[in-house]
Amino acid sequence: MNVLIKGADVLTLDADGRLLRGCDIAVSSRNILAVGEIPRDFEPDETVVGRHRLVMPALFNAHAHGPMTLVRGWAEDLPLERWLNERIWVAESALTRADVFWGAALAACEMIRSGTAAYADHYFWLEETAKVVEASGMKAMLAWCLFGRGAEKEVGHASLQKTLDFARLRHEGAEGRLRVALGPHSLYMCTDDFLRKVADASHRLGIGIHLHLSESQGQVERSLAEHGRTPVAHAAHLGLLDGAAHALAAHCACVTAEDIAILARKLVCVAHCPKTCMKLGMGLPPLRRFLELGVHSALGTDGPASGNDLNMLEAMRLAGLGQKHESRRPEELPHMQILKLATQAGARALGFANSGVIAEGKRADLALFDTDQAHWIPAHDLAASVVYASHPGDVTDVMCDGRWLLRNRQLTTLDEERIRREAQTRALRMVKAPLRQVRQYPG
Ligand SMILES: [Zn+2]
Repeated sequence: MNVLIKGADVLTLDADGRLLRGCDIAVSSRNILAVGEIPRDFEPDETVVGRHRLVMPALFNAHAHGPMTLVRGWAEDLPLERWLNERIWVAESALTRADVFWGAALAACEMIRSGTAAYADHYFWLEETAKVVEASGMKAMLAWCLFGRGAEKEVGHASLQKTLDFARLRHEGAEGRLRVALGPHSLYMCTDDFLRKVADASHRLGIGIHLHLSESQGQVERSLAEHGRTPVAHAAHLGLLDGAAHALAAHCACVTAEDIAILARKLVCVAHCPKTCMKLGMGLPPLRRFLELGVHSALGTDGPASGNDLNMLEAMRLAGLGQKHESRRPEELPHMQILKLATQAGARALGFANSGVIAEGKRADLALFDTDQAHWIPAHDLAASVVYASHPGDVTDVMCDGRWLLRNRQLTTLDEERIRREAQTRALRMVKAPLRQVRQYPG
């Protein structure tokens, strides 16, 4: 389909950070055909009036657990250990495969409505999430959460082999919108033996790894006591960071100078999820050091069980506020850099390197905002307004690979009313079921 967006303000996020006022964009099939000067022979099937609209690259969420929408608000005001042991790994004992589908579908509605076109998900029963990716038109990198403890001990269990079969079947599926990574939960929940097998499979098959890494000072101390190495150094020692497809590591909140050097050297992508770090009191990663030393960094929301929503607009805002507050330096993490972390850096982390910039030949992954509202006026700096003033309700349209997922504030690919109803019913059923603790956080 050919789409012409006429006379919009366009935040390109190109190398010069250009904002083009009253600019036209031509989209042909999956790509941006032209920005500014539109070829005379371009024949649009649809013309979008761009007045009072800001167009920017759609957001990429680099770490999420979408189906955990079902346990939103179920584990509040608790430290990580109690949050996992007493609430999350209790509720998940009642989780079914079908719940994962509806939880993932609810997550997709929420993400699209807040300007996100792609996400890295880490959870169970990935076939269900893959169906949602396919139907919603979003892009995703899916990692089946693995503990390596055996079927009888796990909810939503998959053997490593099953995950590899899933990857073979689905990687680069959904017209190239779906990618697959291996998803060991973390170093503290998997044995070294199992993690070595995961690393080996990743190297052999060229499949990436997505895991949680170095989330708290407690984890660092336990790793030093058990292995004589920090979690990052231990992950490197086990070969988890050596794959041809780069590892995606969530959090890395507590790291040493040597850890940062390892992350940079091994080309690991760190997914910073400021809301979880703040809400669970885990501490914030040294993002400025990461960026200065060349650690590839992106932003994520984490799951709604910890952060309550999947809103990347808020993740951007908290990333900026967190770094400024911690350092007592308002110059820290300028807003243009935050926008790049939430778009092109995330796109690269998920393996969609041709997204995240509005320029000729790039993928047409776009988010449109209604700027004719009190909190957007005056338009001195629209990029700053996106980061520090925008709401999900401002997002009017989202396009992924040239296809509308949201048009005039209506979801075009998902039956939102049914999804909301199903998710609500299932979430209430889940926590009323007889529950038991299915896993133990070692502290
Ligand atoms: Zn997580």
